Amino acid sequence: MKNNNDLVQKDLLIEFFKKNPNRDIKHPEVVDWVVSTYKERTGKVFRDPDRAIRQLAQSGFLIKIAKGVYKYDPSKAYKRELEDFTAAQKEEILKRDQYKCVQCGMGKREGVELHTDHIIPKDFGGEATVENGQTLCSRCNFLKKNLKQTESGKKMLIRMYQAAKKQKNKEILDFCTDLLRIYEKYKVNGHIVWKK
Ligand SMILES: [Zn+2]
Repeated sequence: MKNNNDLVQKDLLIEFFKKNPNRDIKHPEVVDWVVSTYKERTGKVFRDPDRAIRQLAQSGFLIKIAKGVYKYDPSKAYKRELEDFTAAQKEEILKRDQYKCVQCGMGKREGVELHTDHIIPKDFGGEATVENGQTLCSRCNFLKKNLKQTESGKKMLIRMYQAAKKQKNKEILDFCTDLLRIYEKYKVNGHIVWKK
């Protein structure tokens, strides 16, 4: 769990990189600055700056150029930063949804892994607000993420099925029928109707 010190330290790193955009920066330069600035402002020791930098890179805020070299590109990082839930927001979303998947109802008790998901996806401009967040189990989250791909797959199979039917091509017809039955079996993309 993150504590307040971690959050302040992270903010300080962000401050440094925002002052130094689009430049390849080696670890020591960042570390020297954050350690001394942190000491100046709080009187405390900045613990493990390397780990904090790595975390910023993992979260997509920084681009890793080479071992120990990072770059902050505002055009890429800024977007990411706005769209991602903070640790506090994630906790609030999970709590509001009573630590259960809003889709299938499975939760901590059943031992499933829970994720916080954007209701309106990031790609469609969905924001990182608690209102736009929902709790999904890993299975439902996976299905949701793949919905777009499975949707186009199903539509393509239906088109193939209809063409094969006209051409009386039994082999392709059987192939499409089997695959479309799998969609039905797993109740995937039920809103796309397959007319037999
Ligand atoms: Zn679920």
